[in-house]
Amino acid sequence: MQNIKRVFTGFRPTGKQHIGNYVGTIQNCISLQNEYDCVYCIVDVHALTTLESTEDIGRDTYEMALDWLAAGIDPEKSIIFVQSHVPQVMELYTFLSMVTPLSWLLRVPTFKEKIKLHPHNVNCGLLGYPVLMTADIVLYKGELVPVGEDQLPHLEMAREIVRRFNSLFGPVFPEPQAKLTPFPLVMGLDGVQKMSKSCNNQIDIAASPEEILERVKTAVTDPARRYRSDAGHPEVCNVFRLHNIFTPDRVEEIASQCRSAGIGCVACKKILAQSISSALEPFREKRETLAARPDYVFEVLAEGANRAEVIARETMKEVRESMKLSPRGFRGNSSD
Ligand code: SF4
Repeated sequence: MQNIKRVFTGFRPTGKQHIGNYVGTIQNCISLQNEYDCVYCIVDVHALTTLESTEDIGRDTYEMALDWLAAGIDPEKSIIFVQSHVPQVMELYTFLSMVTPLSWLLRVPTFKEKIKLHPHNVNCGLLGYPVLMTADIVLYKGELVPVGEDQLPHLEMAREIVRRFNSLFGPVFPEPQAKLTPFPLVMGLDGVQKMSKSCNNQIDIAASPEEILERVKTAVTDPARRYRSDAGHPEVCNVFRLHNIFTPDRVEEIASQCRSAGIGCVACKKILAQSISSALEPFREKRETLAARPDYVFEVLAEGANRAEVIARETMKEVRESMKLSPRGFRGNSSD
């Protein structure tokens, strides 16, 4: 257990999770907790950089945590908590801002993209986002950060900030390493965009079998297949892509039946809805049990914040000492 590395990862509070989150991020986090010391953080402060209203943020945080716990994140093995519940992260963010050149932040491609997406809300926090992300990771001495290839530039920025801090004040932080993780891309029901709540093209993992069927019915299929008697092209059909994930044992049969018009899209979608529903049944049962104890999620998050804060206090003590900041109660040098 001595060499066990600490994994840190943060997720914006997006409310109820969908099957894209489930087969990508959530299942990955569940498997990591058996191998590493994992710290999972719901980054509500990051969400403020683009949110124009905070009306739903508390509910979204709760729903997300409930889904994660029901899916298998084990609070006995991992720390799961809410970013703003451990205020030391804001202190470290401020200190790291002082060693981060403005030019580094201005060249971050996602900053430019976000300006385009939110032209009426270009706030200071948006620019400082990579610094806050670095503070999140290093406050808990995260050594490994699970990322997809597209997120590597963000992690490289965190590493640069850490190197700069360590070169100025001493080796306080480990340089976080990327743990390259293949996150399967799950397309939304529209077949055009990645599955997401904001595109309303998702299937929630907490959906009932009936709701799953209703959602699957709306999925776009092979656009060339206009009549039941038309031969289909499963390779361009998004329902078929989902069969690959949820009905792996029958994909060859479904593909062949689709190509020979032996199966219609309505029947094919019913099979998919059934497969998704069966795969999520254990999750739904556990979620119902946990939801019947409304205080449970809050207790887990509070306990997670307590455990995270123990690490955070230790780190901040080290940070202040390395930066030669005067301790509380400092009365100056009496010989002066
Ligand atoms: Fe897609 Fe299935 Fe219809 Fe073929 S039969 S086009 S795989 S929904």
